[in-house]
Amino acid sequence: MDVRTGIVVLGATLLGATGAGAFVLFDDPLTRRPGGEYTIATQISHPTLGATSPSGPSWDAAFAEALDAWNDAPGLGALVDLSATPGFEGPCDDDDDVHGVGFEADFCGVPWGGTTLAIAARSFTPGGLVTEGNIVFRADSLVNANWDVVAGPQGAFDDFRRVAVHEIGHLLGLDHPPGSNAIMFATVQDGVEVPQADDIAGVTTIYDLGCPDPIASGSQTLDDSLDATDCLDTDIGLPVPGAVGDCTQISSFEANSFVDLYEVALPAGETLDVTLRSTGAGGGDPVFNPTVQVFNANLSSELGCDWNNPMGAASLSLALTPGTYVVATRSVFAGGGTNYELTIAPEPGSAALVFAALTALWGTATRRR
Ligand SMILES: [Zn+2]
Repeated sequence: MDVRTGIVVLGATLLGATGAGAFVLFDDPLTRRPGGEYTIATQISHPTLGATSPSGPSWDAAFAEALDAWNDAPGLGALVDLSATPGFEGPCDDDDDVHGVGFEADFCGVPWGGTTLAIAARSFTPGGLVTEGNIVFRADSLVNANWDVVAGPQGAFDDFRRVAVHEIGHLLGLDHPPGSNAIMFATVQDGVEVPQADDIAGVTTIYDLGCPDPIASGSQTLDDSLDATDCLDTDIGLPVPGAVGDCTQISSFEANSFVDLYEVALPAGETLDVTLRSTGAGGGDPVFNPTVQVFNANLSSELGCDWNNPMGAASLSLALTPGTYVVATRSVFAGGGTNYELTIAPEPGSAALVFAALTALWGTATRRR
């Protein structure tokens, strides 16, 4: 993995206590896949069973049904976009932004343990933008994982399809809830094969952000952060920075930046002064390159833009006609995230430039369940 990527790995079938509860999101950091979109390379073959399950359906067909269980869940059609594409991609190759699925005799070099049946692993940027998701199914023996495709009670088998539905839920950002009326419950259940209301509510919380979401603001200094709870430029359809303004020197802006929007009313006879700097603490990875854009009120036109090298603040001072404008804070880097300080000052010359070393909010994070 590269320095801007962390990875989180998760297990499928830990024993958990049954009880009432609600969905749980991964939150360290919160992570989100742009548009809820995964196209997963799928050419699944078990080392002893081959490409088809004992009862007949191919693993590929069962996995495609698991993807559609989320696509077709009530209310999720516009929020997630899951599909399979023919071809083999090693599910332990986590550094190429290609999503894969497969059976493996160990979990990417680590022996399978306990009652784990499968693990979903994701790579994400420091701001929580998921760049890759992989699913590894256990295949060390048919005693430990007796795979078949089974509807209803599983009997002596482990149902590949419902475990796939569970792992795909992890790729979307869900953790194990305390309540058992969910496909994301940590233990496979005979009576739950597709996403339940609790699972659907969790995915809706992650992906239905009501973008754009401008924050009413005046002349002030604000502390906020960029992370996966924010809309992406691609969610909003925001013009790419540098299309006009002062960012044309940047040759390769990346899409999929998290964005905060601030709505500002500019009185007559004043300039709009904006300064953005990182306040994130961390190890110094270039996870956030402060970039500010100023737009007209309906976000259709960029009126100004500034970015800076990773060691500085971004600032703008624009002479504009009186009216309402939107200030966007973002990073040059796709998925870059950090805490920041934004100063908005509709008075001439009042914005003091404050420079601070760029610091990283997140390095790499690894955990396994
Ligand atoms: Zn799980």
